[in-house]
Amino acid sequence: MLKKDEVAKLRSRLTPEQAEVCVNKGTEMPFTGEYWDNHDEGVYRCAVCGAELFDSSTKFESGTGWPSFWQPAKKESVKEKDDYSFDMHRVEAECAECGSHLGHVFDDGPEPTRLRYCINSVSLDFEKRKH
Ligand code: FE
Repeated sequence: MLKKDEVAKLRSRLTPEQAEVCVNKGTEMPFTGEYWDNHDEGVYRCAVCGAELFDSSTKFESGTGWPSFWQPAKKESVKEKDDYSFDMHRVEAECAECGSHLGHVFDDGPEPTRLRYCINSVSLDFEKRKH
C-alpha cells in the first residue's frame, strides 16, 4: 500500500474527470467511457497508481454501459468497503494500493463468481496484450 504523500503526488496529476471519480467517488455517465465496449485482450490497471486490477478474460457484457468484470486480477488487488451513500447499501470497490475509487460490486454477475464489478472507465488504464 502506498504512503499518503505518494498518493497525494499521484492524485495531483489527474484530470478533473479522473479526480471526480477516483478521489470524489463520482460516477461517469454510462456508455460514455473508454472501456465499456472494449473487447481487446489485456490488463486493466489503476489510472492513479498503475496497479493491475482486472484482466480482460473476466470482462463480460453487463449491458450497463460501464466496464464489468466478474473477478479482480488478484483478490487482494481490489478492496471492498461498505458504502451507505444515497440512502442505500452498496459495496464500494477501490484500488487496494492507492485507495482510488473504482466503482461498486454487485451480486448479480455471471458464473463462476456471480459478482459484477461495475467499474468506471476513467478509473482504469488499459494495457493491450502483445501476442
Ligand atoms: Fe491505485
